Amino acid sequence: MSRPLRARIDLDALRHNLGCVRAAAPQSRVMAVVKANGYGHGLVRVAQALREAEGFGVACLEEAVRLRETGIQHPITLLEGFFDRDELAAVSHYRTIPVLHTERQIRQLESTGMPQPIDVWLKVDTGMHRLGFAPDTVPAMYQRLQACANVNGIGLFSHLGYADDRRSAQTQRQCDRFKSVFEDFSGVRSLANSGGLLGWPETQFDWIRPGLMLYGISPFSGDTGPDHGLRPVMTLESKLIAVNHFERGAAVGYGGAWVCPEDMPVGVVAAGYGDGYPRHAPTGTPMLVNGRRTTLIGRVSMDMLCVDLREQPQACIGDSVVLWGQDLPAEEIARCAGTIPYELVCAIASRVPVEVIEAASAAVVT
Ligand SMILES: *Cc1c(COP(=O)(O)O)cnc(C)c1O
Repeated sequence: MSRPLRARIDLDALRHNLGCVRAAAPQSRVMAVVKANGYGHGLVRVAQALREAEGFGVACLEEAVRLRETGIQHPITLLEGFFDRDELAAVSHYRTIPVLHTERQIRQLESTGMPQPIDVWLKVDTGMHRLGFAPDTVPAMYQRLQACANVNGIGLFSHLGYADDRRSAQTQRQCDRFKSVFEDFSGVRSLANSGGLLGWPETQFDWIRPGLMLYGISPFSGDTGPDHGLRPVMTLESKLIAVNHFERGAAVGYGGAWVCPEDMPVGVVAAGYGDGYPRHAPTGTPMLVNGRRTTLIGRVSMDMLCVDLREQPQACIGDSVVLWGQDLPAEEIARCAGTIPYELVCAIASRVPVEVIEAASAAVVT
């Protein structure tokens, strides 16, 4: 038996979630966001499973090139734009669409010879104050782009900074600003991420940019993907590799952070922070053993963690453990570990084997 840890990736769930996106925003084209290795789910496999989407969003040119090399023909947006002039020939060659957010990028576009004119997104800072042009400078930038021989189509783009909080008034404010910044703008617009498109239909515009919800995870703090009809795509699963019986008072693991309050069985699971499980997950973080809830105890080690088996005294070596995913939302683990589910799925280590499942084919382990 090899080390039993696996990230199971359910491509049917991924397509189901794209269906949920469509149902929530039937008028919009979908730019499926697959940056950061498809949020840890595998860039190429995710894009291929989501060919029905109208486009893809990535963080950088290298990710776009990987998609082109596997035959993806869709429009691909570079969500951070290009970083320097030397990328421009490839931006054009691979027909990628950079998000422009600095005057420097526009100057470089104006002053560099390019094989083909490109489409671009002009990014407006509608209130997040991270990337983008201040609203009053947008018309002037737009005029320069219109006059630039290297530029073909121009879309208007902004990003929501508060859409994880359904009670925040900021999202509506950002949406209003996005509409008013350039009232007679005639091109396409894009504003909504997952939280925006689910929580504020008015933010949907021509192109929506769902990331997290495609992977079956809720974009809102306080609920879970299944609350929105989504199905988790990644299940991190492993097995018990030891079951030990300790006496009351025994201290378990590094630093003896768990002290047995009574005589009890303790399971050892092959999964640790070296695999991407959060080291800060405390005692009490839920876990499924043989499909039944129990909890993490003591400190998470690099390759292992321990689990309370008092409620499952019959559990033995080889029994299944789910760390998050199906029947145990990553949102819950993230909350316990003081982080967000984005970070959990993105942090899956490259040493973790991936098992891809979809109804049309048998499981493949890579
Ligand atoms: C990552 C990203 C998204 C997707 O956000 P989710 O919250 O995962 O839906 C959309 N737009 C931009 C600009 C992004 O960087």
